[in-house]
Amino acid sequence: MTLSGSQSSYVCGATTEPLLYQTVGGALARAAERWPARDALIASHQGERLTYRELDARVERLARALTASGLRPGDRLGIWAPNCVEWVLVQFATARAGIVLVNVNPAYRTAELRFVLQKSGCRALVLAVSFKSSNYIEMLRSMLPAASLTGAGRVDCPELPALELVVHLAPDDIAGFLSFGALMARAGDPAGAELPESTDPDQPINIQFTSGTTGLPKGATLTHFNIVNNGYFVGRALCLTEQDRICIPVPLYHCFGMVLGVLAAVTHGACVVFPGGSFEAEAVLRCAAEERCTALYGVPTMFIAELEHPGFARFDLSSLRTGIMAGAPCPMEIMRRVMDEMHMSQITICYGMTETSPVSFQSAVDDPVEKRVGTVGRVHPHVQVKVVDADGNPVRRGETGELCTRGYSVMRGYWEEPERTAEAIDAAGWMHTGDLAVLDEEGYCYIVGRVKDMIIRGGENIYPREIEEFLYGHPKLLDVAVVGVSDGKYGEEVCAVIRLREGICADAEEIRAYCRGQIAHYKVPRYVRFVDAFPMTVTGKVQKFVLRQRIEAELGGGRNDRPDVGDSPADG
Ligand code: AMP
Repeated sequence: MTLSGSQSSYVCGATTEPLLYQTVGGALARAAERWPARDALIASHQGERLTYRELDARVERLARALTASGLRPGDRLGIWAPNCVEWVLVQFATARAGIVLVNVNPAYRTAELRFVLQKSGCRALVLAVSFKSSNYIEMLRSMLPAASLTGAGRVDCPELPALELVVHLAPDDIAGFLSFGALMARAGDPAGAELPESTDPDQPINIQFTSGTTGLPKGATLTHFNIVNNGYFVGRALCLTEQDRICIPVPLYHCFGMVLGVLAAVTHGACVVFPGGSFEAEAVLRCAAEERCTALYGVPTMFIAELEHPGFARFDLSSLRTGIMAGAPCPMEIMRRVMDEMHMSQITICYGMTETSPVSFQSAVDDPVEKRVGTVGRVHPHVQVKVVDADGNPVRRGETGELCTRGYSVMRGYWEEPERTAEAIDAAGWMHTGDLAVLDEEGYCYIVGRVKDMIIRGGENIYPREIEEFLYGHPKLLDVAVVGVSDGKYGEEVCAVIRLREGICADAEEIRAYCRGQIAHYKVPRYVRFVDAFPMTVTGKVQKFVLRQRIEAELGGGRNDRPDVGDSPADG
């Protein structure tokens, strides 16, 4: 079938405004020239505030210090820390010195850390002392025998041959490690004067390991050009100016924090405000109120936690105007509440993935409300998207297929993984996202699920997202994840895992009764489970594969162990 014109599911973003040809370090230098005295960075939990002039000066010192420590353009440096001022300093200083920043997930444990350090060949690692239940120093010591720490942060360990320098972020000295302060002091060394004259915007500057539900993490490799432009156009869509103050509780190690947050702010002169090292609903509400933030970011579960916080009404959020919800399907009901109850009338939804820098769709602040709560908006400037069938042909508008992205935002590849890169990016340059989407006639995009999450029950394709959206309308329900569990008769069956509102009870039959007659019989959850919390990734995605495994284990392997598929409430 050949499709043409508006019928075919292909869209291309506006190209009226040119792409920026800048480096990450250059973008900060420009901001410091244009808005020297404006607030650039506030970390409430650290009591730190920096203007653009101050931020730029500290970044310049750190870039010289890294160079004086022997790091050269193209070398890799890992950062393993929750959100803090130093994270941002390292982000810009590495870029200015041409060093490739490797974001290490704060939730990683020893085996994952070893893997990413080995895979990316980090020469240096900057790490916090601890985070939640993780003692980073102890974990690193368990990997590096005492004899391999040869003083002042120098490392000589056969298992991690590339690693030469470990720098900690604590105020006190830690034996064997170099302190951040001592590192900074090296800026004055003569060797620090050798900063590269300029770096090339097309050079890789960042490796972000994507969590992936199967297989080992893959290091999405992004260039200056990828992330400066994506940050810039995200900021444009939010109408950011130097008057804006963005409250950022999402992690910096993920592109939501470092690109949509930091780079969108820097390219528009806005201020970045961190309420804490990691997400905590009350700290976010307090910080947004006290700092008079104009924008707030979050994954859907963060907004849910803020809206449900018992002290919610105490905080004056009237300064909020805009923000971003992204990273996972954004329930319509939550979007409406954020607009009404948090004053974020101009909130937008972004959709994207790390491999595409990340954003490829974003709603506009003035899109009709129905589109703003129900879709991920329209395609970003300079980005092309097509939605294809199993044979790779674009489907008609209104039909479901796999979303593919092409353009400036597509990553360089997975670090030293040519085969996995070739599986993801085809010969024509299309990144295959694995997300199922529908484009409407006007180009608005609906994300309907993941190719891998799609439930196939007795030959019917079921998109968990659709059932989730329907269940969000139930007054007792706070959050829901729908998963497929294997079934001897139908192949898979639908299971709804539900978090109820505080102090509320419900049973499985009640939930099914709510669905019956409203959604097709095969979509009515065969199983309903109630939980207090979902297994989550640090970036706010429900780990559906974990839920699925748990439920299948509970069901005794999920085989055909029951006489019929009637609506017996026994499984509630
Ligand atoms: P990551 O690479 O960690 O940013 O994860 C990217 C994935 O998150 C995408 O492939 C989608 O499955 C999901 N995702 C991101 N934003 C949205 C959104 N607005 N709606 C639905 N899913 C989303």
